[in-house]
Amino acid sequence: MRMTGRPVRTGKGGGQASAGDLLELVRSGRAVTRGALQQATGLSRATVGQRLDRLFRAGWLREGAGGPVDSPLGGRPAITLEFDDAHAIVLAADLDTRHARAAVLTLGGEILAERSGTLVLEDGPEAVLGELGRWFAELPAKTGHRAQDVCGIGLAVPGPVESGTGRVVQPPMMPGWDGYDIRGRLSRAFTERTGAPAVPVLVDNDANLMAYGEQRTVHPDCSAFVLVKVSTGIGAGVVVDGSIYRGVDGGAGDIGHIRVGADALCRCGSHGCLAAVASGGAVARRLAEAGVPAASGSDVRHLLAAGHPEAAALAREAGRRVGDVLATVVTLLNPGVLMIAGDLAGTPFLTGVRELLYQRALPRSTAHLDVVTSRLGERAGLVGAGALVVEHLYAPDRVEERLLALGV
Ligand SMILES: [Zn+2]
Repeated sequence: MRMTGRPVRTGKGGGQASAGDLLELVRSGRAVTRGALQQATGLSRATVGQRLDRLFRAGWLREGAGGPVDSPLGGRPAITLEFDDAHAIVLAADLDTRHARAAVLTLGGEILAERSGTLVLEDGPEAVLGELGRWFAELPAKTGHRAQDVCGIGLAVPGPVESGTGRVVQPPMMPGWDGYDIRGRLSRAFTERTGAPAVPVLVDNDANLMAYGEQRTVHPDCSAFVLVKVSTGIGAGVVVDGSIYRGVDGGAGDIGHIRVGADALCRCGSHGCLAAVASGGAVARRLAEAGVPAASGSDVRHLLAAGHPEAAALAREAGRRVGDVLATVVTLLNPGVLMIAGDLAGTPFLTGVRELLYQRALPRSTAHLDVVTSRLGERAGLVGAGALVVEHLYAPDRVEERLLALGV
């Protein structure tokens, strides 16, 4: 029954394409008509119809607004299919050391409502996640939804995350959080306040999720993407072929604690880390020593936005420090896009990065490299956290189990 073209990779054992595989083809835009799905999978028209019927009954698919298109199998024009990104909502939050941002998103990644405010990580996970649960309980109503419409929660944190458990591992900026059950606490905080059923909670590093959000939204064709977040600390996220690269322990991209040979004390307890000399926190400290009131990366951001000359000079110097380390990063990974994000991301810092990067890296590593600033800005982590949840829930190998749970 196989038609032209290579059938899609299917689940374990190489069996026939599942409903989850069909959904994946539609979501990715690789096949959006019944005929194209037949062609891509080698399934019969009847089998494709049965599988699509389950996806329609679950409310996950709808007929496209674009109207019929020419069928790849010939004959009359075919109805297009699309993922129904309004059948549920996602909650996401991005925690910084003293500030948090939370949002309701569609399954397509559009932010529907948002709130932000002071949440201090040093107060510990119990207090912070309890308060975040309260924010999450109130957010759906602002978009006309109920807590029961939430299908999952994504959380970005400024520390290394063990992806199997969602726990942070020895996080310098999150004292008291080491090994804490973030997923369990946040899930409980949400269900206790709303009475809604428990939903999956996914946790990842903030730079990873910012990179994921920016790559998917702004640079979808870039197969090797690096984002460096320079705020109170410094971290990098790497997206390769559309997936976050985390390394074996979730530690990939933790460039803030590379020793650069200075003697400044870092929050991690070591001396001479990159973050101790070139982060927003380090620049704030230098400014404070010079009599300019600044205590955090966000204070530096405000000074930079106001064109403060000393802040600009220190940001450029910090950019050179970071650029020196990024020369190695770029040589190792040969990315197409290097994005600078966070409190320091602006012209002075970028100028410093470019000065050292192009001087130290091999020309071949930088020939096709774009060094850019963040497009999504402070929302990048939220968009990435939302996408992480959606990709988790609608992955082909999870769809079958979820359809059965819905009784379709
Ligand atoms: Zn350190």
